[in-house]
Amino acid sequence: MLKVLSCIAMDHSYGLLALATLVCILGSILTVRLYARVQRSIGMQKLNWLFTSGVVGGSTVWMTHFIAMLSFNPPLSHAYEPTLTMASLAAGIGVTILGFLVTATGKPGFQIELGGGIVGAGIAVMHYTGMAGYQIAGRLEWDSGYYAASVFLGIGFGALAMNRIARSVTRFRQYGGILALVLAITTMHFTGMSAITIIPDPLIVTSADVIPDSLLTVMVAIIGVMLALGASTYAIDLQSTRGAAERFRHLSLHDPLTGMPNRVALGDQLREIIHRHSQEAGEVAILSIDLDRFKDVNDVHGHAAGDAVLRGVAERMSKVLGQGEFIARMGGDEFVALSSNLSSGDDASTFAARLIGAIVQPIEWEGKNLFVGASIGISLYPSAAPAPQELLAQADLAMYRAKAAGSNAIRYYEPAMDDAVRDRSALAMDMRQGIERNEFELYYQYQNNSLTRDVIGLEVLLRWHHPVRGMVPPAEFIPIADRNGFIHELGDWVLRTACRQAASWKNPLRIAVNIAPGQLANVNLAARVLEILVETGLEPSRLELEITESGIIADEQNALHVIRQLKQLGVKIAMDDYGTGYSSLTTLQKFPFDKIKIDRAFIDSVTSDRQSAAIVRSTIILAESLGIPVLAEGVEREEHMDFLLSEGCPQVQGFLFGRPMPLSEISHVVNARSAGSPDASREAYVLTPSAIASLLREPDFSARATG
Ligand code: C2E
Ligand code: CA
Ligand code: CA
Repeated sequence: MLKVLSCIAMDHSYGLLALATLVCILGSILTVRLYARVQRSIGMQKLNWLFTSGVVGGSTVWMTHFIAMLSFNPPLSHAYEPTLTMASLAAGIGVTILGFLVTATGKPGFQIELGGGIVGAGIAVMHYTGMAGYQIAGRLEWDSGYYAASVFLGIGFGALAMNRIARSVTRFRQYGGILALVLAITTMHFTGMSAITIIPDPLIVTSADVIPDSLLTVMVAIIGVMLALGASTYAIDLQSTRGAAERFRHLSLHDPLTGMPNRVALGDQLREIIHRHSQEAGEVAILSIDLDRFKDVNDVHGHAAGDAVLRGVAERMSKVLGQGEFIARMGGDEFVALSSNLSSGDDASTFAARLIGAIVQPIEWEGKNLFVGASIGISLYPSAAPAPQELLAQADLAMYRAKAAGSNAIRYYEPAMDDAVRDRSALAMDMRQGIERNEFELYYQYQNNSLTRDVIGLEVLLRWHHPVRGMVPPAEFIPIADRNGFIHELGDWVLRTACRQAASWKNPLRIAVNIAPGQLANVNLAARVLEILVETGLEPSRLELEITESGIIADEQNALHVIRQLKQLGVKIAMDDYGTGYSSLTTLQKFPFDKIKIDRAFIDSVTSDRQSAAIVRSTIILAESLGIPVLAEGVEREEHMDFLLSEGCPQVQGFLFGRPMPLSEISHVVNARSAGSPDASREAYVLTPSAIASLLREPDFSARATG
């Protein structure tokens, strides 16, 4: 007859024992993962996760315990008292939640382990409450040593588990937390079971109101479903968190307008490629791409059109990318492309040409075809520079050089370009001193009547006699002055000097002074001109200001306003370089010009290129219909004259009649006692003090100067 049954040595169903272990491990993993959410959330969400992880943790302990109990087959009848069995589940869950709460709300000090100890104690409370409801046909004897050891193991491993989980920074340490939790549950259970010795006693009968093994199995299964629910909550959350993280990553690395990688992504990519290439041979090309005429599209057709162009261009460039090639939008109309797939330096220009080919295709927008081009600068790693920042700066420099060379140009970075930049800033500094030292001089170029060839006016062209560099052409220093703001001072000097000189001539020829975009942007331009006219005494009708389309397009409203003010002064306005702008025709209709100057590029090829001839011809017809005289620039040969005369162009200017000359060389013309230019004298308009006063009182002149 069976006298003593020691629990641990008792007959077990190993299948169920394995299931208990599996539930314990999976439940612990889930608990730890859920608890990690507690640490990463705040407010109500934190409480939600705390509750969920506590329920899952407590249920795991309970399930492990009861599956292990089911696996244990004592040869005596046994059952479970329902109230205590349920109470054990409630205790397991409640104490686990309490332990998690203590850990989660405490300062990162001793309280973390205290909470863990509570979780471990919860395992013991659950275990012994459950055991109190265990009914068997025998007497249970308890070994206090095992009993104390089981509680101690539960608390100890519980504290260790929370220590690993709450203080962990790495995934690896989290695994330590899971292992400690599994150990807390299993060592507590099996040591606790070892504390029991069953002395069979047939006199003890289990009460009527009990849960048999079969019902307990169902209960365990229900709790199992709860655990699975916890797992699926976790999975759903994980997925949406991952989705959000993925979306966030995408947003932070992509440009919202074009969907292309952005500046940050480019930086990452460039660093990575450079890192990879430090071990490999071969070169990496960095291409700085800037669209040509994009600003015009934006200004003329509006931002929606500009956006459409950017999207279209981005999409096309992305499509032509090959292996090892990458492109990002840096902002505005600037892009940077990388190629790490080069066998020779030539490959980089092939790549650049491929991108330009994609860019120049027309982009359809609201029934119109919009065209842009691109200038590309290339720097090569490692031959050009070792660091990403430098490489980008060098590619930019080369891009500016390409831009200066005309549309759709490609340039490689060369060290001399750095010198050119230094040169430009040196030039900017020299310019200020140049005025003080009287290094600037005005040259004059004739403007002639096409039929009579009489001089009817003079264009004023600025010259700079640099003490070291010699004669610096205006095309070089005017853009610099325009960009750095010095144009206001320089422009004033030109205007004042030209007006003073012209006012002293016996022949009242009209002078044409160039106005840079920066000057036109100044709302006080008309006031400055008026001041200079009064100061020098030049008749306003003898002054003509030449403005370009680029000056107008920067701020059309302001340009129109300033031009109207100038015309009120009696000053003439000519449109310079006609035909080179983007929408010359629209500009012509909108602005009240007194003259159109056809750009010399068209005249140059008028006899050889049918398209140039067509443009010149249609401009003359159009101007005639608008009642505006046309002047053809750059007339160098008689064939030009033949063409222009046959088309009825009334005015000409060019080397054929004279190059720009210093004042001393034209004195015989300007001081000839002639009737002067018929158009200038006919409209003589003298600024008397009362005329000035009335002009300043004009609401259209003074009030609009501010708005
Ligand atoms: P622009 O206003 O188009 O001036 C005409 C330019 O064409 C002048 O160059 C002139 O020398 C040149 N030119 C005239 N006839 C012929 C010809 O038959 N054949 C050729 N090949 N060229 C001819 P320049 O003096 O070098 O001036 C260049 C540009 O610099 C000017 O172009 C103008 O935009 C700017 N500029 C010159 N002086 C001033 C100034 O005082 N203020 C401003 N804002 N810009 C100025
Ligand atoms: Ca001009
Ligand atoms: Ca011109």
